[in-house]
Amino acid sequence: MTAGLDAARAEYADLVDRGLSLDLTRGKPSPEQLDLSAPLLSLPGDRHTAADGTDCRNYGGLHGLRELREIFAGPLRVPVDQLVAAGNSSLGLMHDCLVYALLGGLPGATSRWVDQERIAFLCPVPGYDRHFALCERFDIDMVPVPMTDEGPDLDVVARLVADDPSVKGIWCVPKYSNPSGVSYSDRVVRGLGSVAAAAPDFRIFWDNAYAVHHLTDEQVEVADVLAACAEGGHPDRPFVFGSTSKITLAGAGVAFFGSSPANVAWLLGHAAKRTIGPDKVNQLRHALFLRDEAGVRAHMERHRALLRPKFDLVRRVLADRLGDTGLAEWTEPLGGYFVTLTVPDGCAREVVRRAAAAGIVLTPAGATHPRGDDPRDAVIRIAPTYPGLGELEQAITGLATCVRLVGYEKALA
Ligand code: PLP
Repeated sequence: MTAGLDAARAEYADLVDRGLSLDLTRGKPSPEQLDLSAPLLSLPGDRHTAADGTDCRNYGGLHGLRELREIFAGPLRVPVDQLVAAGNSSLGLMHDCLVYALLGGLPGATSRWVDQERIAFLCPVPGYDRHFALCERFDIDMVPVPMTDEGPDLDVVARLVADDPSVKGIWCVPKYSNPSGVSYSDRVVRGLGSVAAAAPDFRIFWDNAYAVHHLTDEQVEVADVLAACAEGGHPDRPFVFGSTSKITLAGAGVAFFGSSPANVAWLLGHAAKRTIGPDKVNQLRHALFLRDEAGVRAHMERHRALLRPKFDLVRRVLADRLGDTGLAEWTEPLGGYFVTLTVPDGCAREVVRRAAAAGIVLTPAGATHPRGDDPRDAVIRIAPTYPGLGELEQAITGLATCVRLVGYEKALA
């Protein structure tokens, strides 16, 4: 092990000498991926009417264009009439749902959330830092729930929601989860739909951000959460979110909300005060560009052709550089945008610090946990989608050097 440390020290010194400037933090599409949607920039051309004759240039149409909702009803597993197309950001819709629940009350609620002493959300960990940031913003307590390889630990969820009426929600990224890559099993989806909750207004925030973002031929299907909740006797429990941010243009896409008829009426009632209607010109050009569900699938194949080599490279370099060290484990996701690297307890922050000192910026250690606190200090999120292959190889190789350096230092301390 001393020899391993000596070698890692020498490699690290070389790494620092190279004066790199690389960024592995950005879970966003690469420019080449955005180029795939270039035709959107010249659509809808001189056309401005939707299939039902709506003039997309004008106000109105809060529910969103039906032809676009028809395209995404299948991938998001929401009946078209219960799917709303609104705005450019699903995160924005999640934010709005929290605000409306706080200030307006939910169907089935006995009072507004803001009138209650404590509100808490269950947070499967590792998870998505922006979900946690929303909770912090609104003083919603976060209760970590361990992730298993088939979704959040159902026994823990069942215990927490059964006992405590202040537990109002759970964050879920059901397919190719951010950052673990886990997809929820049928058992977990059924369990979440049927579990008994003390709060009558308990909601599942079902953030299906990676619904069509496959990296392999094994195109994972996750069970229908609306059906699971209806069968479990809780039809109003799920809020489904999705968007085209990582399908077409991130920031200039279309976001979706799907739920029970009562929740859709609730959302639209609030949304009607907030806006006179969504950007239907953007919705029209998306419908013209993507055409149908098969069009979405074909488009995602083109993303996959760009992304797969990057994920393969990460796997190859980590296996070459760390495979026989016992110092790290990493996920091999079947889809989505991230790889989770697990290093020995107490090492993640130091690995990130050493990498930064060598010019490789990583997502802050702890970001995958509520309030930035990973109690084991072991999880590092790798975002391989944005850099080119050359930069990515340098960054992952350098990261592996940092893991060996910090891991051996700690083992020998
Ligand atoms: N949800 C998850 C799980 C994400 O990873 C992301 C982006 O990284 C988002 C939501 C953001 O989606 P949007 O661009 O629709 O706001």
